[in-house]
Parts: sequence; C-alpha cells; structure tokens
Amino acid sequence: MGINATPQRSAAAPSAQISILGSTGSIGKSTLEVIALHPQYQVFALTANKNVAIMLEQCQRFSPRYAVMVDEQAAEELRKSLKAYGLETEVLAGAQSLVEIASHPDTDTIMAAIVGSAGLPSTLAAVKHSKKVLLANKEALVMAGDLFIGALAASDAVLLPIDSEHNAVFQCLPPETRFAGGDICSQGVRRVVLTASGGPFREAPLSALEEVTPDQACKHPNWSMGRKISVDSATMMNKGLEVIEACYLFGVGAQMVEVLIHPQSIVHSMVEYADGSVLAQMGSPDMRVPIAYSLAWPNRIASGAAYLDLTKQSALEFFAPDLERFPCLRLGIEAAKMGGTAPTILNAANEVAVESFLQGKSRFTAIPAIIAGVLEQMTCRKADTLDIIREADRSARELARQISDRL
Ligand code: NAD
Ligand code: MG
Repeated sequence: MGINATPQRSAAAPSAQISILGSTGSIGKSTLEVIALHPQYQVFALTANKNVAIMLEQCQRFSPRYAVMVDEQAAEELRKSLKAYGLETEVLAGAQSLVEIASHPDTDTIMAAIVGSAGLPSTLAAVKHSKKVLLANKEALVMAGDLFIGALAASDAVLLPIDSEHNAVFQCLPPETRFAGGDICSQGVRRVVLTASGGPFREAPLSALEEVTPDQACKHPNWSMGRKISVDSATMMNKGLEVIEACYLFGVGAQMVEVLIHPQSIVHSMVEYADGSVLAQMGSPDMRVPIAYSLAWPNRIASGAAYLDLTKQSALEFFAPDLERFPCLRLGIEAAKMGGTAPTILNAANEVAVESFLQGKSRFTAIPAIIAGVLEQMTCRKADTLDIIREADRSARELARQISDRL
C-alpha cells in the first residue's frame, strides 16, 4: 500500500465480499454482528477449527459460499448437517483451505481472526493477494513482522489494524502516515502511547499469583475475549505483543512506544506530537467499534456498540506499568528492541506456556519463567525468510515444552 493511496470519503461504504478466518471466535462473532447491520456486506466464506455447532448456525444465518473446517471430521459433520437443512454452502477441510479462501479472487476483504501462529499462512496469503486485510491475529504479524511488512510493500494490500489500541493509533495519525512505510517521525509524531487495562491481577497480592486458575485469568474486567488473549492480558504479554505489533505497523522503534495502564479502557490509545498535542481515540470497550471502522474505512458506519456517556463515566486514570508484577511485558519490550527472530521466539514460547497453563499443566507464574528461559537459551537471527521463522518457531516451542515439563 503506497502512502498516497488514502481514498476520498464517500457517502456510503461500498459493498464487499468478506471472508472471516476464525468466524466462530470472539472477534469472528463480533464481525458477523456488525455485518448483520449492513446489507452491503456479503459473507463469502467463514472458517473455523472444529466448532461445528456455531459454524452451522452462522451458515444458516449468513449463507456463505464456502465454510472451512480445519478439522476433517468436523468438516464431514458440517457437510451432513448443511445437507440436512438443504443449505448450499460448500464445505472445505484442512489448513490449506484457509490459504485458498484468503487468496480467492472473488473475496476482497479478509478478517484475519484466527488465534495464534495458525493464522500466519492465510493472513500472509491475503496480503500477497492484495486484499483489504483486517488484522486481529496479532501473533501472525509479531512472529513474522519483517516478512509481513515486506509482502505488504510488494502488494496492493491495505492492512487495517483491528486490535483496539492500534486501531486507535491509526485513527490519531496523520492520514498519509497511517500505513507501514509512512514516515511518522517526519510528520511531527513524538510518541505512540498504548493503553492497557492491567487485566484482572493489576492489584492482586503478588503472592496470590502462584495459585491463579485459568478461569480467574480469563475473567477480564472490561473486555470479553477468547481464552488465549485473556491469559495474555492477565500476564500483560498481550501488551508486549502489541508493542511489537506497533513497531511493525507504524514503522517505529520500541523506544517510541510507551505503555500506560488505564484501568477504565475508555482511551484506547494516543499519539503525542512534537508541539505537545496528544490525540486520543475514545469509545466503549467493544471490539465492534474497531471492526466497523475497518470494514467501512475510510467511511464510518454504525457498529452496534453503546455510545459513550462521559457524564456517567468514572474518573479516567493512567499509571506507569509495574514491570516486576508483569515480567511478560518486560520480555515483550526487550524482544521488540532486539528484533529479528526474538519476537518469533517470544511468541512461540508464550503460546506453549499459555496452552500449558490453560490445560492445568503449569502455573500462571511459570508463563514468564518459560519464556525467559527460551529467550536466554536461543540465539536470535535476522528473520528474512519463512524457513528461518518456521525453524525459530519450532525450536522455541520444543524448548518451551522441555522447560515447562521441568518446572
Ligand atoms: P478465539 O479463541 O475466541 O477464536 C479463535 C478462532 O480461531 C476460532 O474461530 C477458532 O476456530 C479459530 N482457530 C483456532 N485454532 C485454529 C487453528 N489451529 N486453525 C484454524 N483456525 C483456528 O480468539 P479471539 O479472542 O477471537 O482472538 C482472535 C485473534 O484476535 C487473536 O489473535 C487475538 O489476539 C486477536 N484479538 C482479539 C481481541 C478480542 O477482543 N477477542 C482483541 C484484539 C485482538
Ligand atoms: Mg489490544
């Protein structure tokens, strides 16, 4: 996407053929809720890992041309159910079908909402095929940022961030610098400030963190999200990943990205300019807002989210994060500064550590210990090719499993 490509505003958002990768998840469902409000958006394809019941409901309601189930058995079940209901949606199976959908010439807009590294091949394919890519799947960008941004520069893809913080920054930047490749420093930007709620354990006694259960970690005070990102929010690794995401998306070094704890989740992020002006984007903590913004960009449409009533809002607070309480945030910032394969390694180790915690195999406090151990033992390299990234990802996962078994 060139930096001069910002289209003019028009009265109504144009129609689009949308594919949602990860439609049965939290972001996928919110995307369908926004789409349901606007008949100009048609659903071309929906994809999921194995949740047949939700996928069947979504197919009944939105009649996509294709439904992908990565799990073969789930695909077979879905095929039978759709047939029983007389629905014509064609069912595809397997991970390669995700890439086929993301590259299909009849779909123009791809919502990348798969969780974790499983979303990389399809998201990258969407970029290479010059789609309008709505990026929720931050792990794909974090693990392969240089490749991703290179593919973006070599294509006509438009990448719009769905992560609420990056969507907020995007809205606060000068229009000509919003896309990777735009030089935000030359436009007087001094700092990008990402806000963070601090998650459910912002004030919990440190000694209590040892005994935290997966359900406690997934109970976020302001946002309702999938389980992996909920744990990431509780450890604040989510903000570490978001610092890396901001560096790639906006072409800045980690020293230009600041994190502030803002427990109310009303200011979604800010951009500070050389003259002392600070632009902030505010709204209810509801992912339908950034989703609607990105679907309609550069127009604006209703999202279905509640409008903000500042007279009923409690005081807005901001604090510096405590890196002792949240070692995962420190590790994320360090990986952002190191670059190369460090973010790939960090992301892979985190995925293994979180999965192990969610399965009840390791403690909440083991998550940063596992990631730190992996980062210490692996050598970071330049991340120029997909092979290097895959190898770093594979080795980091193996090492993370070994460390996790020993703890
Ligand atoms: P979720 O767990 O609710 O949903 C994940 C989706 O991915 C599901 O549809 C699932 O079927 C699919 N999936 C899981 N594993 C898969 C695999 N191996 N192959 C193919 N598909 C697979 O997750 P979510 O909360 O919707 O988050 C999705 C992404 O959006 C994550 O990267 C997350 O960090 C990001 N994000 C989420 C939120 C939020 O509010 N939920 C906010 C910002 C960013
Ligand atoms: Mg976020």
